[in-house]
This record gives sequence, C-alpha cells and structure tokens, in this order.
Amino acid sequence: MSIPSANVQATIDATRTDSELVGIPHWIDGAVDKSGELWPVINPATGVQIAQVSLADREIVDRAVAAAAAAFPAWAATTPTRRAAVLHRFRALLMEHTDELAVAISAEHGKTVDDARGEVSRGLEAVELAAAVPFLLKGELSEQTGTNIDTFMAWHPLGVCVGITPFNFPVMIPLMMLSVALASGNTFILKPSEQDPGPSLLIAQLAAEAGVPAGVLTVLHGRQQVVETLIDHPDTAAVSFVGSTPVARAIYSRASQAGKRVQAMGGAKNHLVVAPDANLDAVADALSSAAFGSAGQRCMAVTTAVVVGDVADALAEKMRERAMNVVVGNGADPSSEMGPVISIDAQVRIRGFVERAIAGGATAVVDRSTEPVEGHDQGSFVGPVVLDGVSPSSEIYQNEVFGPVLILVRVETFDEALELVRTNRYGNGASLFTRSGLLARRFQREAQAGMVGINVPIPVPVAAYSVAGWKDSIFGDTGLNNGSWRFYNRPKYVTSRWDESTSGVDLGFRPN
Ligand code: NAD
Repeated sequence: MSIPSANVQATIDATRTDSELVGIPHWIDGAVDKSGELWPVINPATGVQIAQVSLADREIVDRAVAAAAAAFPAWAATTPTRRAAVLHRFRALLMEHTDELAVAISAEHGKTVDDARGEVSRGLEAVELAAAVPFLLKGELSEQTGTNIDTFMAWHPLGVCVGITPFNFPVMIPLMMLSVALASGNTFILKPSEQDPGPSLLIAQLAAEAGVPAGVLTVLHGRQQVVETLIDHPDTAAVSFVGSTPVARAIYSRASQAGKRVQAMGGAKNHLVVAPDANLDAVADALSSAAFGSAGQRCMAVTTAVVVGDVADALAEKMRERAMNVVVGNGADPSSEMGPVISIDAQVRIRGFVERAIAGGATAVVDRSTEPVEGHDQGSFVGPVVLDGVSPSSEIYQNEVFGPVLILVRVETFDEALELVRTNRYGNGASLFTRSGLLARRFQREAQAGMVGINVPIPVPVAAYSVAGWKDSIFGDTGLNNGSWRFYNRPKYVTSRWDESTSGVDLGFRPN
C-alpha cells in the first residue's frame, strides 16, 4: 500500500492531535510563532510523517511584515562593518551546526547526509561573500563634476524583501538570498518550501544567536496564498523566487504588476554534450554524479546527454554499469549514495515520464524506477534510469522531469548538438566534454545557457560570481550570490556644491 499524496495526508493531519509530533513554527519578530493551520512534513525515505509545520494566513503575514518593516530603519542604519561582524558570527555558527543542519535536510528532503553537508558548505560560501559587504558595496564619487560640485552614488537597501525557495536546497538557496539581502541592510522574510521547512527555522535561530536583531530575519511558512499575500502586501519591496518555471513566470508577472522588484529563477533541462574525442570514462562518471546525485533533484542536474558521432554505444554501456551500481537507500544511512525523491506525487510523476518514454520508443538501458528499497515500502524511491535513442520531439526531452532519469540523444555532428542546446527552452546550465580547445571555445561562446561547463558537469560558479540561467530558467535580470547586490540595493546619486559664491539667476541649462 502506498501512502496518500501530500494533499490527502494534510486532510488527515488536520484532525491529528499527536503531541509527540515535532512542530515547525514561524519565526516572527525574533521568536517562534505557532499560529496557523498545520501541514504534514513527511520523511520521504520512510513515508512517515515526522513533523507538522504551521501555515500562515493573512493576519500572520500582516504581523510578520509589520515586524520586518519596523526593524528596517535601525538595521539599515547599522554600519556595514557591524552587519559584516554579525554575518561572520552567523557563518561560524552555521559551520558549527553543519551536521545538525545536514541531518535535518536529509530527514525532510531525503538526500544523503553527506550530500546535505555539501549543500550547507555551498550556503556558507554565500554568507562569506556577503560578509565582504564593506568592500563590495562601495559607492562611487567624482569630484569637480561642475565648479565646486561633486557627484556621488551610494547604495541604499530597499526595505522588506521576500524570498520564496524550493524544496531541493532548503539551506543553500535561502542562504544565497538572505545573506546579501541582510548584508545590504534590508530585512528579509523567507517563505521556504512547505515540503522541507525545518532547516529554515534552524537558520533563523542561528542568525538570532549571531546577533541578527528581532524582525530582521523572518521565516513564514505557507503555500500559494501566503506567497501571493506577501507579493501584494504594500509594505514589501522586492521578491526573490527560485522554483519551477510555471510558478516563476506567475510570480514574476504578479510582482511586476504590483510594482515590486522581482527576480525569479525557474526550472531546467541541462544538456551535457559529449564530443567524440572526450574521455568516455570521465564522461560516464560525471554523468552519473550529475544525473543521479540528490536523486536528480538539483536545478543543475544533467538530464540530457547529447552524444556526437559513434561513441554512443560505448557510452551507453558505461552508463549501464554505473547506473546499476548506484546504491539507493535511506539518506540517513551512510552506505546510501542516492535517497528517495521528495514525495509520492513526485515518484508517480517521474515513473509516468519513464513509462511513456519507453512506450514511445526510447530504449531502457537501465530502468530501476520501480525497484523496491528493502525495509522502505512506503518511501518515495525512484532508482536510476538511463534511456537511449530519445527523440528531441518526445515528451521526456521537452519537459523537466526532476528525478534520477538520464536521457541520451544521439546526433551526427557537433553543430546539431549545439543547435539542441541553443533551441531548448530552458537555459540554466550546459556542458561540453571534449579534448578540443576549438570545440570548447565555440561551445562556451555559443551555448545559450547562463552557466556553462567545459569538462565540468554541474557548472555552478563560486559565490563570487552568480547563479543565473537564461531563457525560461529565469525571469528578471539578476541572479543569486554576487549577482544580487544590485537587486537588493538601489543607487542614490547625490550632486553637492560647497561654494560660498553666488552665481546670479540663470534660467539656461548650461554644460557642466
Ligand atoms: P515549486 O515551484 O513547486 O515551489 C517553489 C516555491 O514556490 C515553494 O516555496 C512553494 O511553496 C511555492 N509555490 C508553489 N506553487 C506556488 C504557486 N502556485 N504560487 C506561489 N507559490 C508557489 O518548486 P519546487 O518543486 O519546490 O522546486 C523544484 C523546482 O525548482 C525545479 O523546477 C527546479 O529546477 C527549480 N530550481 C531552480 C533553481 C535555479 O537556480 N534556477 C534552483 C533550484 C531549484
């Protein structure tokens, strides 16, 4: 028997009075707040409800925004050096609590604890970057732009910023958003995914311990209605979103109409092009790690290998060996290499894609999608899948599957491969494996994607750069990390004249 979908489970939970169940409250004005209806949080490896999260309503949102707005003036006036000191302490505390965070991520998301530690370390990079605020947020000054006139530009924070984050990185993406937002002097309301909300509360508590004042960082749980209330609220200034493309598009549109700044990162269909001269063992290792890591639920997971020329049979065989060897199990078990997908709904969706692709003519090199995991009958597991001979016109090529499914598309020439990368509607990441500098240079120039890898399968740049896709993978024009200073700040240009003389009335518009 499979467990009911999240929607049904929520109905069951509404009547539940299990006092043993962990509660995941909001964090408002520097304190936990348990108000609102409850929503079940399920361990996807066991299918068992492990917690219940409080969902906000309009009144709770109003209260949270009021606290964030009230905290803004003092935090904005705090010197960047002091804000940086708080971020340094925050980073140290996050480091100290890495294991606790990783276990919490694994329990609610399902990824292995080891992978979750990696996620935390990427999040730490974001905090480290933001702590360089005194250096990175310098303004500009030009002396003598007119006679005894100087012009300068200073960055000013926006006010109450909102961040809506996906389930797949419950620590890294919140940290990428809130670090630069807070360093800049904004207050920040995080609305994490309701599917794995627990780690966000730990983040808020550690931030408070580090010295982030009450109201400066808020965590509000909820779903669509809470997101829309936050976007429409007259006292919120900007909205950052990371999640699926349809929701990103809707949020971009709604926030723009409300006159808010908005950056919305969406889904992906990341291609890895295999040139005939590539080292096939290196390619197969990279593809396996990038397609099956975190059960394929990374926005930069490689989902599509475009194989050029006559190496496809050899690569398919190497992929078969590797995909068969991946150890699937509970993410809390150190021997597991791959955990479950996030929910039964996701399991059903992914298996459906695989079934229809095979029925439509794709060859199953490996299909472990329905393989049971011992002792975990109720878990939402989907084992690794490798499908060969996939047509670019097929449903599985056209859509984001967001599971451990790798498709192989065979093409004759490098130009055909490049054309697929160019015309795919998503443009988050794209990689090429080759020994040819000429092909590599052409690829890095011509691939239509925001993040490009050369002999690197998941080319997420370090925090000193930016995480940002192209095409349907982003709505708005700024990414996360170092790309978001301009998003979370607005320039003020001051022209000042310090001169005792008078110049007389002159109604003309004179050159400087
Ligand atoms: P999702 O779009 O379902 O949800 C993301 C967030 O939006 C959650 O907080 C959710 O509660 C909220 N939400 C869901 N539906 C909503 C609606 N109709 N209106 C308003 N808010 C809504 O995404 P997910 O399943 O949590 O995450 C996986 C997706 O995120 C994948 O598509 C993945 O590619 C994408 N992703 C992209 C990046 C990137 O950098 N481009 C990074 C990570 C994840």
